[in-house]
Amino acid sequence: MTGSAQLLKALEYASHRHRTQKRKGTRNIPFINHPIQVASLLANEGGETDPVLLTAAVLHDVIEDTVSSAEERTELMSEISGIFGDEILALTMEVTDDKTLEKKVRKQLQVEHANNKSLRAKKLKIADKITNLRDIIIDPPGWWSNDRILEYISWAEQVFEGLKGVNPVLEDIFRKTVAEAKLKYNIQSADNLS
Ligand code: ZN
Repeated sequence: MTGSAQLLKALEYASHRHRTQKRKGTRNIPFINHPIQVASLLANEGGETDPVLLTAAVLHDVIEDTVSSAEERTELMSEISGIFGDEILALTMEVTDDKTLEKKVRKQLQVEHANNKSLRAKKLKIADKITNLRDIIIDPPGWWSNDRILEYISWAEQVFEGLKGVNPVLEDIFRKTVAEAKLKYNIQSADNLS
């Protein structure tokens, strides 16, 4: 497959896998918007052209968010490897959390493992965090308190510490997005205190 044929295949595949899912915000946004935004951010803002990276960006949440058992996970992994090859599967797995672990543990592992990731995985994870922060600025999950949002921002910064050094443009965007998010939600918590 050429780069663009593969990317289209990934869009078709991921949109099918995520077809019933919505983002966590209150605007009823289809989940597939998120992986598309991550891939587009890498290409159109981060200047990344590597087809393996861009295809894996489209697929990055398929395993983490569309399987419910270990058996299904293994099946999906072999399907992705069959369609897209082992390199794209390996990169997808590198950015996939182990959902059998508790959320708190998964979050801590992201901080601890960030620095050991491949160059491509680091870029993908930075773009993923930027996209999540942008969503939080515009449309946070309705049930998240202001404190919960601030907690997320500071966790994202901790993960970022292990990821940086791979794409200065994306890193600059990450820092600006964090600053924007903090400005919005720190001000709101200051208002709540007064
Ligand atoms: Zn994601």
